[in-house]
Amino acid sequence: MRKTLVAVLPWLDVCPCAGADELLAGTAVVEITPPRGYRMSGYFMERLNTGVRDPLKAKALVFRQGKTQAALVFCDLIGIGPGLSRSARMSAAGKTGIPFENIVIAATHSHTGPLYFGALREHFHRAAVAGHGKDPHEKVDYSAWAAEKIAEAISRAKQAARPVRLRHGIATEKRLSFNRRFHMKKGGVRFNPGQLNPGIVRVAGPIDPDAGIIELLSGGGVPLASLVVFALHLDTVGGTDYSADYPRYLSEGLQAAFGKEYTSFFGAGTCGDINHIDVKIKGRRTAREIGALLVETVRGGIPGLSAVKEPSLAVLRATVDVPLQRYSEREIGKAREEMKLVGSRKLPFLAQVKAYKIMALELRKASTLALEIQALRLSSELAIVTLPGEVFVELGLAIKRSSPFRNTLVIELANDAPGYIPTRKAFVEGSYETVNSRVQSGGGEAMVEAALRLLKELRQGI
Ligand SMILES: [Zn+2]
Repeated sequence: MRKTLVAVLPWLDVCPCAGADELLAGTAVVEITPPRGYRMSGYFMERLNTGVRDPLKAKALVFRQGKTQAALVFCDLIGIGPGLSRSARMSAAGKTGIPFENIVIAATHSHTGPLYFGALREHFHRAAVAGHGKDPHEKVDYSAWAAEKIAEAISRAKQAARPVRLRHGIATEKRLSFNRRFHMKKGGVRFNPGQLNPGIVRVAGPIDPDAGIIELLSGGGVPLASLVVFALHLDTVGGTDYSADYPRYLSEGLQAAFGKEYTSFFGAGTCGDINHIDVKIKGRRTAREIGALLVETVRGGIPGLSAVKEPSLAVLRATVDVPLQRYSEREIGKAREEMKLVGSRKLPFLAQVKAYKIMALELRKASTLALEIQALRLSSELAIVTLPGEVFVELGLAIKRSSPFRNTLVIELANDAPGYIPTRKAFVEGSYETVNSRVQSGGGEAMVEAALRLLKELRQGI
């Protein structure tokens, strides 16, 4: 595997069309719960859905100022497959005139949604077709169906756009998230070593305690919606019923405070190496408990938010071509055979993960991957950055630290889900996330550099 990043080819699509026009925003929510019995995502085994704990949703937020328009959609899904992302953005662009480049489709990373794309879905789907002539667990083309639902949400949000006032800030939440990688007495770094494991020496990375908040109010000051971005893996429900995981309780808590019409958007912060497991104790918080504590933090932060006095909407986008990992024909053949053992106890877990990753690379059929980065400016102090993949927290922190904006919300799993995006340091340390990553070491840092270039350009353009 090559150690250094060979091709970094950024390009910019600039639309610095800010003006003194009024800022408009609209929201819309559609349901994207798949049919009962669909395969569930989240783990390395076949899990069939048995019901609905709470419905899955796609929530669209459209901004408009003068000629500039942008849309952000947050979906209760583990990731956004590249096919779904492309179709939804193209359809929405056709329906609304919002440029494809200014549309972000992000996943919250719920582990209790459908398995509708990627190497594992491909494996189970093909096996079902080989056995039954058709796949009894995929009665609909979920990608195509969800793409239209998402486009419909964007269209409805645009129609609902009206003058808004924004307030923004950061609330601190240190109780809920834990870096899940640890240096061990035996040497090396291990992910999720288990609670009260005496072999743990020390944690291998930080958390991000920021709960970034953007609040939308009507011209008259009535709270309409909020976007909260927090870096904590959504894998707190389990089971085989569909669920939006803890953001469901954030939404319910904020609606209890601000009314049923209030829309709670949740963006996954960079939480590739962050989860809710505290190794120093036994037991874990439930999704409901996590949601309730996050509501407390967000509500506590709202009175201290700063008003955006001069909104200035602009969107920039760049793609960075990063090298993908490469495997020999022999390794690919071995992985194809080992895929048959995924979900069984006949192959060690990390060997299963590696086989799956190699098959995922085979699906991409490319030597590089275009990581798409979007940056959205809302004022001289406030910006949003969106990134593909499950991004390590250190990379999101690096963007925030060097951003020229006072408040930068960094959201992962936007438009594509090419596995983990670890740091160079983590690639040296190894463990699950690097085995399950498709990019080569350095890809994450290249993404950070591109994001910072966009932010600087947006800040200078004001
Ligand atoms: Zn994950």
